[in-house]
Amino acid sequence: MRGLMMDRPLLISSIIDYAAESYPHREVVSKRVEGDLHRYSYPQMRARIVQLAHGLEKKLGVRLDDRIGTIAWNGYRHMELYYAISGIGAICHTMNPRLHREQVTYIVNHAADRFLFIDLTFLPLVEALIEQFPKLEGVVVMTNRAHMPAESRIRDGAGKQLLCYEEILAGEATDRVWPEFDERQAAGLCYTSGTTGNPKGVLYSHRSNLLHAFSILSQGSLKLGQTSQVLPVVPLFHVNAWGLPYTGPLSGTNIVFPGPALDGASLFDLMVQEKVTSAWGVPTVWLGLLAEFDKRQQAPDCLQEVIIGGSAPARAMVEAFELTWKIDVTHGWGMTEMSPVGTLGNLPSHYAGKPVNERIDYKIRQGRRMFGVEMKLVDETGQRQPHDGKSQGELLVRGAAVTSGYYNDPAANAVAFDDEGWFRTGDMATISQDGYLDIVDRAKDIIKSGGEWISSIDLENAAMGHPDVQEAAVIGLPHPKWDERPLLVIVPKAGQTPDPQSIQDYLAAKVAKWWLPDDIVFVADMPHSATGKLQKVKLREQFKDHRLPSG
Ligand code: AMP
Repeated sequence: MRGLMMDRPLLISSIIDYAAESYPHREVVSKRVEGDLHRYSYPQMRARIVQLAHGLEKKLGVRLDDRIGTIAWNGYRHMELYYAISGIGAICHTMNPRLHREQVTYIVNHAADRFLFIDLTFLPLVEALIEQFPKLEGVVVMTNRAHMPAESRIRDGAGKQLLCYEEILAGEATDRVWPEFDERQAAGLCYTSGTTGNPKGVLYSHRSNLLHAFSILSQGSLKLGQTSQVLPVVPLFHVNAWGLPYTGPLSGTNIVFPGPALDGASLFDLMVQEKVTSAWGVPTVWLGLLAEFDKRQQAPDCLQEVIIGGSAPARAMVEAFELTWKIDVTHGWGMTEMSPVGTLGNLPSHYAGKPVNERIDYKIRQGRRMFGVEMKLVDETGQRQPHDGKSQGELLVRGAAVTSGYYNDPAANAVAFDDEGWFRTGDMATISQDGYLDIVDRAKDIIKSGGEWISSIDLENAAMGHPDVQEAAVIGLPHPKWDERPLLVIVPKAGQTPDPQSIQDYLAAKVAKWWLPDDIVFVADMPHSATGKLQKVKLREQFKDHRLPSG
């Protein structure tokens, strides 16, 4: 027998309606690309979101299922796009501007975006690539008329529309009843380059984003609510800023967007100015902030917690926050494919009285699963491993906010899931009896530097093109600032002694600058398996004590 309850769809538009009504005095504050600080309340935000939604429909002809790309920093206009695009059943496709240009081109075309919304900062990037986007109809610059470029190749060279964001909103009605559709309708699209090969699109639904937000809020230990001010340093262009565009308005917190200024001093000043209580970001960003604490010999009084994820923080970082500055650390783990939060490292209540060192031991682990996320560990043969805190295995997950397949990518989907339909994370882990996840290694052949991915395979392929290179392998080595940096290992062709600088110069023409290896070493041969496969594990072991010049 079915329950007799209303089957109301879980739609993202309901979040902003709720926040505008329930938290009329709570605010969204943004450091703008134009240089100033912008602030408004949730009702004002909703009014502009509604205007934007009308403008998208009437002025750009946006319809259900259309993909609309964004390349933008953390700011109120970007968040307006999240809601306006999904509110009318279209798909908000956020893009990472730090990706290599070839990847940006691939992503825009694979998604078949109709329009791109970009911050002024990214005009040169889009102008340089505009001819490569045959299906794109136009570019909307996220600013007002006064800041619009007088001329641009987008319009004058490529013949595409070049539009002003504020003019899309201008004159449109500020209220509406949102359209209703199936809660499984796609709402957002984000490509991950955290696996090998081309970037892969993760297509979120209204339902998955709402359930993900509810799970995070049900966690209880996070300091999000009507008396908090949250600073998302984690970008809106990557992994939905860990769900904050949804959990923020649902909880009634103020949101403080930092714009492009992510250095320690700018973050510190903004925290003080806006009384930030909770700040979310990757370890690299917190290094800059901690250095600023040291410089000023103080932390902002208002700051109560930092949420660290995307890479594992060093123990020293957790200790600095917790012990030196008395700021609570929650360490989380997740993936683009998981919306993205999978675990959060809040301490069980019976740990409150434990000695500091034991508490830190727990805090540096990745935490316990969020409600709605199931986890299992398997060995190479697919056999489940016990959750005993010792047995290692590859971590597989499933849940209502976990991808069921990459967007239009059958080849990737063929290997992403096991026979039972669980998603392979590519992370090696242990899980303790009380559910604590500990990521111990990465099975996927990829390097994470400052929260962003470097494909070791792409770097290797690029290096192999050098005339003096016989074989090339790239491994990630720990780095105090960037978490990991690439080391390039080369077997030269017989009789050749290549100059490392010539290899760097060669690579510089092929890959993004921040992908260039921090060091190059030459070896006579590399470890291979019986089937001739390069054994990266052995190579990592061989170079585990290698010190990078920048390290
Ligand atoms: P992304 O999809 O770019 O967010 O990357 C997800 C991957 O980042 C995971 O599969 C892990 O390899 C890594 N990762 C994310 N959070 C953590 C963490 N807290 N500790 C260790 N690795 C992490």
